[in-house]
Amino acid sequence: MLELSTPVKYVKGIGPKLAEILATKGISTVGDLVYYLPFRYEDRLNPRGIAELRAGEMATVIGEVRNSGLFRTRRMPIFQLTVGQGRARLRCLWFHGTYLQEKFKPGQLIALYGKVEQDQRSGELQIIQPQFEIVGDSSADGAEDKTAASLEVGRIVPIYESAGQGRVTPRWFRRIIRTALENLTPDLSEPIPAMVRSRLALPSLREALWKVHWPEAGESLQDLQSARTPGHIRLIFEEFFFVELGLELKRHQQKSQTGISFGLDNRVRDAIKKILPFHPTAAQKRVLKEIAGDMQKPYPMRRLLQGDVGSGKTIVGFEAAIIAIENGYQATLMAPTEILAQQHYFSARRILENAGYRIVLLTGSLESDRKREIRRHIAQGNAQLVIGTHALLEEKVEFAKLGLVIVDEQHRFGVLQRLKLMKKSSDSGAVLAEGTPDPEVKSTEGSTDKRSRQPAAESNLAEPDVLVMTATPIPRTLALTLYGDLDLSVLDELPPGRTPIVTRRVADERSSEVWDFVRKHVSAGHQAYVVYPVIAENEETEVKAAVKMYRELSSRVFADLKVGLLHGRLDSELKDQVMNRFQKGELQILVATTVIEVGVDVPNATVMVIEHAERFGLAQLHQLRGRIGRGAAKSYCVLMTGGKVTEDGERRLDAMVRTNDGFQIAELDLELRGPGEFFGTRQAGMPSFRIANLIRDRQLLEVAKREAAAVLAGPNSEITQVEISRALVAMRMRWQHTYGLVEVG
Ligand code: ADP
Ligand code: MG
Repeated sequence: MLELSTPVKYVKGIGPKLAEILATKGISTVGDLVYYLPFRYEDRLNPRGIAELRAGEMATVIGEVRNSGLFRTRRMPIFQLTVGQGRARLRCLWFHGTYLQEKFKPGQLIALYGKVEQDQRSGELQIIQPQFEIVGDSSADGAEDKTAASLEVGRIVPIYESAGQGRVTPRWFRRIIRTALENLTPDLSEPIPAMVRSRLALPSLREALWKVHWPEAGESLQDLQSARTPGHIRLIFEEFFFVELGLELKRHQQKSQTGISFGLDNRVRDAIKKILPFHPTAAQKRVLKEIAGDMQKPYPMRRLLQGDVGSGKTIVGFEAAIIAIENGYQATLMAPTEILAQQHYFSARRILENAGYRIVLLTGSLESDRKREIRRHIAQGNAQLVIGTHALLEEKVEFAKLGLVIVDEQHRFGVLQRLKLMKKSSDSGAVLAEGTPDPEVKSTEGSTDKRSRQPAAESNLAEPDVLVMTATPIPRTLALTLYGDLDLSVLDELPPGRTPIVTRRVADERSSEVWDFVRKHVSAGHQAYVVYPVIAENEETEVKAAVKMYRELSSRVFADLKVGLLHGRLDSELKDQVMNRFQKGELQILVATTVIEVGVDVPNATVMVIEHAERFGLAQLHQLRGRIGRGAAKSYCVLMTGGKVTEDGERRLDAMVRTNDGFQIAELDLELRGPGEFFGTRQAGMPSFRIANLIRDRQLLEVAKREAAAVLAGPNSEITQVEISRALVAMRMRWQHTYGLVEVG
């Protein structure tokens, strides 16, 4: 009997060679194999009669091979196959189909799947390049063939992605997965707690597995294709449930950590009020309240602040810093680039230094003497607000009394780095060191609360609070999974007086008009960005490079204006210089690469021209555009395109022209790129799912989250210890697999 954990090579029919091929698909156990679901289904129970086919439909047809042959046109060889049902005939064509020459024999039964089209000349229906399977030889009568054929016809048939360059076919998968299912141990353990299963009326694991591979005759093909059958739902739910359960446990565990209970009396409130250079928006007030609430709690804050570009996250961060500093702690703000760290440093000095706060900047480009000195200030506690880049993560940086960690533009950092900074201040590091939640959490729940009420402020084991800020708008459900261990605050309001940015698309033949437009705005006293996708000219792709265009723009087009150049390969002193001059208005036009993508804040800049806009990702375009529209004057974003734009490119540019709403853009971006790409490889903590699809199955994710919370909530929990332990053991495996490795590693 096979267990889910049994290596695949013990399934009858899988030798070492095939096991190797399967491994490339991530299939190494029986569990992996039976969770390898068909990517589509063919209705071979009610296949279409050839006579009823309509042009334009996707159809499964079963018929007999009548004749086939290769003919050559001037452009390519084409393989033609005629399939018959009684008198009706259907033609199939394969371009460059030489490889099919010896494949078919008259009389064979064949299943075809493809789009029915009408031949323009003859008006006859045909299928071009159908997927096909020879399902039987009508002349053969071996008993073997008959049983085998019963898996291929007369039912809804699962179609699997083949593997090993087609050596492992859908047909092979069908047989092998069927064998695995037939030999699965009778006491297959049921990972989802019984109460949850009955509440949601989910089928058992065994039943679900059988039915997704071998649907019953009455099953809706549409439900199968869209993974909406009870069996699919159950498997998707299972996957989400354990991730959510893990996240929920982690949150519980975080709340049992010793944190700092910051005080928030009138003195602190006044200190905050004193520094504010403007009236905060309602959203800023609400979010600060959420943050301050967390900071007062005896356990560490773990909060994500999401706010579109320009929504005013920085000042909220500073306010939180003041709470920490006024309580006698240090705060640190980590930014992903030197430019941004610099900029934060300048605004912190502008806003906070008058009030007497001591602020330092620590970045990698500082001279080592200077660095050492700053590190000393940090270690001795002189520096109250420490702003920096990755340099803050270096081993040698020690804080005297770190109370608050703010990570800006979190999407630019890996999850690992966030954790590393959190660990900095304490030797305990417990919450982060233990990747796998403790299965005993539930049984110690009573004591959990008591522990967290212990006075924390004096304890030097206290974990600092963490506030993570990001401008990547992530649809809520996804945020809850990706950052599921964090509480979420959203700044959903822009500061007053902003007029929406007007975005236009222009082909680059019209660049002279664009330059006139830029000149007009610069003459009116504003500033402009001109952005290029790469630094150096790449002849192959004919991309205009920032450096080259800088020369052209500064010496010819805008010879009378002050033009600067900024890109990642400039040494950092020069970078600072250029940025400062632009900030002060000494430069009127800044030619740049995407180094300005994140966080740069120059409210007087009102025009952004992005050349080769079709080459940028949607999120990146939105971030770039966020550099303008920061003041009261109307801002303009010009997306210049050069050459051919792909279909996806069109959709990206359309979206940019249509909306300024980061959430809408994020939704489309997610749709275009899929979750993996969307979150980027930097997000090493992103759980990967075998069956579930974060976009398609969003609603189930919500359900799973709710159920996971319910399972762990309150002492009158509805599930038994045994079920919890069982669930946790199952979760442990998956957790390690997906999210957990990051924490452990
Ligand atoms: P982001 O959320 O993109 O980091 P910033 O914090 O850089 O945004 O803020 C964008 C701009 O808006 C800055 O110039 C900032 O000073 C200004 N700002 C922020 N909050 C307000 C407010 N409540 N009223 C007026 N201006 C504000
Ligand atoms: Mg910012």
